[in-house]
Amino acid sequence: MSHPKFQELAAPGVRGLVPYQPGKPIEELEREYGVSHAIKLASNENPLGPSPLALVAAHEALASLARYPDGGGFALRDELAKRLGVERDAITLGNGSNDVLELVARAFVTPEDEVVFSQYAFAVYPLVTQAIGAQAVVTPARDFGHDLAAMAASVTPRTRLVFIANPNNPTGTWLTSSALEDFVGKMPAHVIVVIDEAYFEYVAEPHYPNTLSWLSRYPNLVVARTFSKAYGLAGLRVGFAVSHPALANLLNRVRQPFNVNSIALAAAVAALGDEDHLAKARALNQEGMAILTRGVTVLGLDYIPSVGNFVAVDVGRVATPLYEALLYQGVIVRPLGNYGMPNHLRVTIGLPEENARFLSALARVLHMGAAP
Ligand SMILES: *Cc1c(COP(=O)(O)O)cnc(C)c1O
Repeated sequence: MSHPKFQELAAPGVRGLVPYQPGKPIEELEREYGVSHAIKLASNENPLGPSPLALVAAHEALASLARYPDGGGFALRDELAKRLGVERDAITLGNGSNDVLELVARAFVTPEDEVVFSQYAFAVYPLVTQAIGAQAVVTPARDFGHDLAAMAASVTPRTRLVFIANPNNPTGTWLTSSALEDFVGKMPAHVIVVIDEAYFEYVAEPHYPNTLSWLSRYPNLVVARTFSKAYGLAGLRVGFAVSHPALANLLNRVRQPFNVNSIALAAAVAALGDEDHLAKARALNQEGMAILTRGVTVLGLDYIPSVGNFVAVDVGRVATPLYEALLYQGVIVRPLGNYGMPNHLRVTIGLPEENARFLSALARVLHMGAAP
């Protein structure tokens, strides 16, 4: 029997998909490059790790591993609802917020529809759009950020979904409350607007929006957040959407019944209760951001001002050789060629010693030219 031609058997959208490229794991770097004590500033992880309370809760949850998790995620949704001031039925849990982004697309988008997002926006938006076989409508960025006027102008009767990351990854750019609400208010009723706030807890800007307060006015709005970034639980995979309960009900229909595991559920509840840890993470990030941006400026480099826990540095030339050279120094950052930003490296704010090590390694590889 001949082999089936899987490429032709695959759904049309899947044929052209290029999988999401994660940051290189530390272990892989150490193995491949023969370096030790590598540091990873490539995936916007919290360098402090999770709250100790979350770790205790995760340990305790191990005792019940033979049981299925609570498929409704009652305790976590209840805790989120109380803290966010929304109804429990407004919350949909996801296996990371990537999961909820995909749930929205699966619930609302067909191959006949269009999905609008910005140039340089988070890589998952094109992925979920293409997996469905829907048409991606990519609007040109302005100063590396979302051009809301261009996005609004690109909405057609076939538009079903708009993705907005605020702040955006990998650029760190952000939208003010007035600009974003003006945009949301302009959206026709057939368009679902997802506002992806993965870095919400890090943002200290006074004009950053409180989008949850808009939900009662705009029933087509979905706000996505995660425990992967400021809460330091990226490895457990837990995120959530807040929306009108009727919209959440539709997301719930395409959600796998046990999409969030029991350890993640327990750790997330405990993480919410540790506001000191969150404050510490925020303060560390602010200090680190100041040191890193000052450091790259001293090296003569530009960067895109960021309100996240990362910054995109313009190295003034194609960045991959520098990325490679940094790997030989045991420093993992993220080149942004696959985002169409070949001259930028995205660097996650780390611990003070990690930031210092990145800056000295960068100074060294800039001096050496491209070669390791
Ligand atoms: C990291 C990130 C996510 C969240 O990913 P998880 O699936 O929750 O780990 C979502 N959106 C953006 C823009 C991100 O940078």
